[in-house]
Amino acid sequence: MARPTVIVIGAGLGGLSTGIYAQRNGYGTRIFEHARHPGGVAAEWKRRGYIIDGGIHFYMGWRPGRPDHDIYRELGIDQEDQYVEIRNYGRFLDPSEDRTLDITQDLDQLAATMKRISPEDATFINKIIRGAKAFTHSSMTTSMEKPPDMNRWWDTLKMMIQMKGTLRYYSGWYLKSLEEVTRELHDPWLAHVFKHLFLPEVPVVFVMLILGALAGGNMAVRKDGSGGFSRALEKCYLNLGGRVSYGSTVEKILVENNGTVGIRLGNGEEYRADHIVSAADGYSTLYDLLGGKYLTPELKKLHEEWPLWKPVVLINYGVARDFSHEPSIVMFKPASKTEAGYLSNDCWIIRIFNYGSQCAPAGRTLVQVMIESQWEPWKDLREDKEAYKEEKEKTSKEVLKSLNNVWPGIKDQVEMTNVATPHTWWRYARNRRGSFEGFAVTDKIFSTSVKRTLPGLDNFFMAGQWVVPGGGVLPTLLSGKHAAMLMCRRDGKVFNTPS
Ligand SMILES: Cc1cc2nc3c(=O)[nH]c(=O)nc-3n(C[C@H](O)[C@H](O)[C@H](O)COP(=O)(O)OP(=O)(O)OC[C@H]3O[C@@H](n4cnc5c(N)ncnc54)[C@H](O)[C@@H]3O)c2cc1C
Repeated sequence: MARPTVIVIGAGLGGLSTGIYAQRNGYGTRIFEHARHPGGVAAEWKRRGYIIDGGIHFYMGWRPGRPDHDIYRELGIDQEDQYVEIRNYGRFLDPSEDRTLDITQDLDQLAATMKRISPEDATFINKIIRGAKAFTHSSMTTSMEKPPDMNRWWDTLKMMIQMKGTLRYYSGWYLKSLEEVTRELHDPWLAHVFKHLFLPEVPVVFVMLILGALAGGNMAVRKDGSGGFSRALEKCYLNLGGRVSYGSTVEKILVENNGTVGIRLGNGEEYRADHIVSAADGYSTLYDLLGGKYLTPELKKLHEEWPLWKPVVLINYGVARDFSHEPSIVMFKPASKTEAGYLSNDCWIIRIFNYGSQCAPAGRTLVQVMIESQWEPWKDLREDKEAYKEEKEKTSKEVLKSLNNVWPGIKDQVEMTNVATPHTWWRYARNRRGSFEGFAVTDKIFSTSVKRTLPGLDNFFMAGQWVVPGGGVLPTLLSGKHAAMLMCRRDGKVFNTPS
């Protein structure tokens, strides 16, 4: 009997993971991808001898022996020599007040340093650190063993038992945003630090999870970056017999007799398969590719009301300078407003790629600044290519001036500049309004589950960051596994994972 066939839309992490698990379960799969490379937003690009990593900052679950590591092994992304454990989450740097603070892996040391900054805030500090310690060995896979479509009450009970040490942190004060709780602090500078441990809008429990992962040695960077990670996934998929067609934008999902039967590309070509999985942007899948016909009230609410991750501008500098003694991440508080690029002035994330030799030629360093920005003005500006180019140039010059105050001389050492705007994310990965990580992280991510099948539509499944609000590497990879589980259930097959 011929193998059942599957078409997957999108070769990002969600699509590649779907392809791998489907191949392992006896399906013949083919991925159609809009871009010319794998990885979606987990992307890299080359400029004048530098390799720019425009994606993933932290890999959680990378450590062998932990439950989350199983998925790394199953997907062929467990190259141990590529991961470097993060011991310093980042350095807060505020040149205008001449203050710095390192977010160390040793949480007791971190708490002591913070209490020295503001003894009156000891109760707040203790509360956060105590919570973070409870998450030191927590696992994300535990709460995501099955897709919501397959979860029964006993699965929820099992999950709650497994999470008993941390369950109490998913309620009350711990679900308030950092923006809100940091108003309790006496020291404004410490309030700035706490607020920007991630993003001001995320709930307290989310940063506890992050700090817990840091303290538990469960957070890493990857020497070969997002590009290496995506290529490893692609290699695993191709080795299992999968096929990818790049530069192939799906324009429509074909439906017959209440079931999906194929896809049509932008060039008019049509391809048929027994099952279709969309691991592309959720909004365009539901509203454009399927014409808005299979929306439930929950999905409508999700896609029309839930806030998105704010888009960012990524400014990359290739610098003829050694930065080996600097931390790899700096959370920088700019002294003044930047008059270009529609940039936020709150907290800039500076990534210094000094942990691997692949990003820059010897003796040189790639320095990347990630700053929250806005979708609309960049989208409008893109209509006029010259104006768009000018704004990018102006932005990189302005931001460099700020960097020069921290690292004097850097402005004369820059030999490569590259700017990615919110529109760049749309152009290459088709994510709605340039939102590179899907729906924003709010308190609701812990109580919202998105079904991966649509009522009244057979043979269709969804995967990727738009079905796991908050996005992120592990949830996205797990969503691919879930899509394959649902396909097996649909076909009456037992789902297998490799041993
Ligand atoms: C700068 C940055 C930093 C990040 N840092 C972290 C981090 O530290 N930790 C973490 O866990 N996560 C991080 N993430 C998030 C994580 O990388 C994403 O959540 C994840 O990669 C999303 O994968 P995806 O497959 O769901 O979506 P995408 O990567 O968006 O993939 C979707 C793919 O579908 C394709 N596509 C869309 N429409 C079509 C169509 N019509 N036809 C064909 N193809 C189509 C797109 O081109 C794209 O390749 C970061 C992301 C970025 C950009």
